[in-house]
This record gives sequence, C-alpha cells and structure tokens, in this order.
Amino acid sequence: MTKALYMDDSYLKQWKAKVVSVKDDKFIVLDQTAFYPKSGGQPCDEGTFVKDGNEFRVVYTGKFSGEISHEVDKPGLKEGDEISCEIDWERRYIFMRYHTASHLISNILYNKTDAKITGNQIEAVKTRMDFSMTDYSPEKLKTYVEEANKIIETNLPVTVDYMSREDVLQKPELARLAVGLPKNIKDFRIVRIGDLDEQVDGGTHVKSLNEIGKIEITKTVNKGKNNRRMYFVLK
Ligand SMILES: [Zn+2]
Repeated sequence: MTKALYMDDSYLKQWKAKVVSVKDDKFIVLDQTAFYPKSGGQPCDEGTFVKDGNEFRVVYTGKFSGEISHEVDKPGLKEGDEISCEIDWERRYIFMRYHTASHLISNILYNKTDAKITGNQIEAVKTRMDFSMTDYSPEKLKTYVEEANKIIETNLPVTVDYMSREDVLQKPELARLAVGLPKNIKDFRIVRIGDLDEQVDGGTHVKSLNEIGKIEITKTVNKGKNNRRMYFVLK
C-alpha cells in the first residue's frame, strides 16, 4: 500500500520514492507519493518523475482499487527503480486554496441556512458548488460570501488530525456532504479551520486562512426547486 504523503503534509513538493509496480508501461505505483489522486471534487496532481536524469511527465493521478496510480507520458520505468518526484506546485496550490475556501463557504451555508452541499468541483478558473437551499436569493448568498471573507481576515489556522468512526458518528455535522460517510473506514481524517469548522476530508488544504485571498462569486444558477449552484474565483 502506497504511503499517501499529502495526507499529513500538503506542502510537500519533492521527495524520493521507489517504483512498486508498472502496468502497460505507463501506470506507476510508488511506495510513497505526494501526488493527490482525483477525488472529493479536487482535481489530481500533475508533475514529474526523474530517473537517472531522464524525465517522465505525470499526466494523471487516480485511485484504482484503493491504489494510487500515476500515468506517465512515456515508457521506461521499471519495478524497483529509485526516482525523484516533484508535483506541479503552482497547480496544486491553487486547488488547496479553493478547497479550503469551499469548506469555509459550506460551513456558513450549513450553519446559516438549511443547505446541504450536493456537489463540489474545484477548477482553477471555474470552481463551483452545488447545494440545496429553500430560502434562497443571490443577494443572500452574497452576504454569506462577504461573511466568509471577513473570517478569512482573522487568519485562523487549518489543521489535520484523525478521529475514530464512533466519534465521527456522534457528530453528524462532520460530514456535511449529502452523500454521507464512506463505509469500511475505521479512522477518519479531519480537516479543521480553527475551532470554527471540522470536516471529514481527504483533500489538501492551506495551513492558514489568509492564503485563500478573497472570494468572489462569478455566477449563480438557480437549477430549479432547491437546487442552487454558485461559481467563485479567488483574488
Ligand atoms: Zn473537502
């Protein structure tokens, strides 16, 4: 099983690893990786592997049957190879900022309204959030985002730790996402924003709120009965 280094250090950019398996000359599994596999609305990392000065582009990272697999752009890597790895940090850092921002917004929606978050897709220019909300207006949404921006200025720390399934089940607010908790997991990773917010989450986040910048709504869509969507950018 690959050690997922991004779980406990989202700022790790470079590390050494050993190739554990190679499939079809291009799907690489490592003993440890900081490449984030596409999941939970956060896009995958891209970057490079280097073996003896030979560079391989990592064009996709996914999780398949529980295993983190990196797709490289050319053949040549073999089981047992020792390689240097580096993620495309600029790309990843944008996703970290957007991911933490989306937790903050959903915290406010959850606490101020009856909203359930039904979807969440982070993209560099067009991050969107889908939610249900009965008492909705674009103006109200704007005031919630203004509130989020005020909280960002307080620069709360963002931290990660783990909690048992039993403890998580005592606190339904830990899993705001309407889909609920994954089965068969004993210890859940918890992402906390100060003492304001805690969520079961596998994503990568910034370590303090001021790294987010300023949230700006770019578009709101009323998708019919209780289904709302908002797009936002970070400045
Ligand atoms: Zn999340």
